[in-house]
Amino acid sequence: MKVYSFPRGGLSFEDPTVPARNPSVVAFLPTFSVIPLLQFPGDSVTSLVSIGDVVREGMLIGRGKSPDSVNVHATVPGKIVRNVEWDDNEGNRNEALVIRMEGSFERLGKEEKNYLGDSMNQHELLQILADCGIVEMEGSGRPVAEILSSLRFAESPQALVVRCIFDDPWLAADYVLCRERLKDVVEGSFIVAKVGGRIERVIFAVSHKEKDIGEAMLEESKQYDIPASMVLTGSRYPQRNRRELELVLRDYGKKENIDLATFLILGPATLAAVHDAAKYHRPILERYVAVGGSAVWKPQIMKVRIGKRIGDLFEECGGFIDQPSLVATGSPLSGKMITDLNEPVTKTSYAVFAMLKEQSSDHPQRDCISCGECRGVCPVGLDPEELYKQIMIGFQCTDAGECHGCGCCEVVCPSHMALANVIAGKNMGKRNV
Ligand code: SF4
Ligand code: SF4
Repeated sequence: MKVYSFPRGGLSFEDPTVPARNPSVVAFLPTFSVIPLLQFPGDSVTSLVSIGDVVREGMLIGRGKSPDSVNVHATVPGKIVRNVEWDDNEGNRNEALVIRMEGSFERLGKEEKNYLGDSMNQHELLQILADCGIVEMEGSGRPVAEILSSLRFAESPQALVVRCIFDDPWLAADYVLCRERLKDVVEGSFIVAKVGGRIERVIFAVSHKEKDIGEAMLEESKQYDIPASMVLTGSRYPQRNRRELELVLRDYGKKENIDLATFLILGPATLAAVHDAAKYHRPILERYVAVGGSAVWKPQIMKVRIGKRIGDLFEECGGFIDQPSLVATGSPLSGKMITDLNEPVTKTSYAVFAMLKEQSSDHPQRDCISCGECRGVCPVGLDPEELYKQIMIGFQCTDAGECHGCGCCEVVCPSHMALANVIAGKNMGKRNV
């Protein structure tokens, strides 16, 4: 079977400090949960509870003010004990409610009522997804109802692309989720396909090393009446980025003679959450998280309640071998540094890591030696060395707008120049490979 890859640049990324892809471990339920009120950088949220109020597991505690915001739910039962505020590493103000766990769980360990019927229409699905606060569980965490709403009146047919591309080892939690919840991911895909707009095909985009996952998904898809197929992709980073993925999908469509006008790309964690919301009216209460890095004794994949302190996660992994020089969420390629271990796991925290000084590339930046390494890895074909220099002397570079901040240039730069951060024009956190 042909493997489709983007044509140039990129890099193979391995990291021995990533947790092994073993079955997930259920993290302890947190005594105190920190539930951020703003779970997407869109419109604000109105808090529905006050200090002293008793909340139930899954109860709505914050209502989004518009479709561009996300409803907030209590992920454990308990009492609201305080409000907290902090500034993250990017200078954004965060507000959260702290729940002290007490009382009984209404969903955990109980059989949940199945609400999924053939009669559900698009409007109902969108309402359920909005009510349950379902977001894309990666990136900025856009509300899924909002994404699907924007496709409602599409004129051309669309394909839902289920992105199971593991070009970054820090996506290990998604990999384990695909294995442990494969049926739910597939069912979530067809729920979206059925009621999410003019979706006429489901495509499982799977990196070729994980072909068996794609084959199992295709097998599971046979019970649904929407056509499904699989495209095998390369596993060179940044294959899963939208631009690089669309390149291979267009190529695939041409070769297979499939009309692929537009794509809706969603990841497995998001589709599992769509499944839970549509079937059980369950908000996102937990997520799979890869916990690792060279400073951590026992890296592992964990199922974690949203709102659990990141510091507690590290403790459950045996604590730190030595003082970490850097703690971050996401991947070292595109992660976000955190400065306080009290920060909580959020809906988009697919990984958290802590690095010792020797692993992190917290090296002083030196002058460019014009080695050309950065040009060789840029998937867009940009000249990062030249762009960086022009931006630093104040030139407006239109080419810089094509940079999607993949970080490849920065990873390979022997002078440790902050190429991607400067060229992408945004603080995407410190890269450390
Ligand atoms: S961060 Fe931008 S300039 Fe650097 S390799 Fe990626 S796309 Fe190219
Ligand atoms: S990789 Fe770094 S040192 Fe080499 S040309 Fe690019 S910017 Fe200069």
